Parts: sequence; C-alpha cells; structure tokens
Amino acid sequence: MSDPLEGDAPCKGCGKVTTAHDYRVQMFRNDKYEYTLCRACDRGRRERAYADTGVLTTSLWLALTLEHREQWDHPTLPFLVSMHRIMDAAASFGRDIWFAGGLQKFFRESKYAAFSMSDTASSFRVLMLASAGRALFTFSGTSEQSVTLITDETSATARMGVQGIDATESEALTLIAQGKTLWESGQRPVVDREVGF
Ligand SMILES: [Zn+2]
Repeated sequence: MSDPLEGDAPCKGCGKVTTAHDYRVQMFRNDKYEYTLCRACDRGRRERAYADTGVLTTSLWLALTLEHREQWDHPTLPFLVSMHRIMDAAASFGRDIWFAGGLQKFFRESKYAAFSMSDTASSFRVLMLASAGRALFTFSGTSEQSVTLITDETSATARMGVQGIDATESEALTLIAQGKTLWESGQRPVVDREVGF
C-alpha cells in the first residue's frame, strides 16, 4: 500500500474514501499506519470520548466553537453550557486578578516574561508567560488536567479567554479558582526559566 499520508484511504468509520486534500485524521501506532477517519467520524469519536469522560480537549473545544455558533449566546447543549461556565471563570480571573488584583501591573513592571506560582501543599501550579503582546496562564494540578487562559498583555479591556484545555468542567473551574486563591493569599509569581509553551 502507498504511504497513507499521501494516498487515498477509506475512513474506518463510514467507508468514505478520503484524499490527501480532505481533512482527515490518520492513526499510527509504533510508526505503523493503522487507520483513517474522516472529519465527521473524527468529530464523533471525540464527542463520544467527551460523553464518556467529560474531558474537554482543545481540539474538541475549537470544533464545538465553530460548529455551534447559532446557539453560542444561549447555549443549551451540555458541553456548550460547560464551556460557558469555564469562560465565565476565565473572565472572572481577568477581572479580579489580572485587573483588580494587579497581575497585569505586575507583568508590566517586571523585566522578565516567564513566571510560575505554586501551592507547596499540593502540586498545583500556574505557569505564566508574556509573549508577543499576549499573556498566557497554564493552570495544572496533580493529574494530567490543565487549562490555559490567554489575554492581551497591555489592553485595558477585559479579554481573558480560554486558549487550551484538557480537563473536565469541574477540574477546570477548580484549577482557575486555585489560581485566584493563591494570588489572593498574597503569593506572587517567581521568575521561572523553565516556563515555555
Ligand atoms: Zn467517516
């Protein structure tokens, strides 16, 4: 068989033949090609994984954002409701910590760009990076889960949004709340040369 990345390959889910020009996902294991999924079947696979685990991932988040614009302002689908709650928490981190709490001021007054804050009592950490006019915050905890927020570094308008996620709604909300608590407890970010995204 020709190289699956170049040639036509049937979708394992629905049998439709996909070409190198189509959006498709090709699965490899130990460098060995296993199968291809078309866009619809890949979406279905990710939505089933979400239904099973409740874990929102960045790729699912982006796909859902693009495909459910019609109910964006008045979400009813459960995952959209979850996404909105996480976006509300991001916005509140922007309002309460970035602006009112002085985190933006902290960044602007520092000559460094990469910081972290951690809770020594748990393995909670927030990595912070200012880069190309943006500020990024990755909150992570004991297991694999994480959520990354992004804002304009210099803007006076609240723009804190979600940049990436690999967590359930409740994990993401807990992580963002832990970050707020850490800042509100008086802890300040320390320069961290290992931070990079
Ligand atoms: Zn398919």
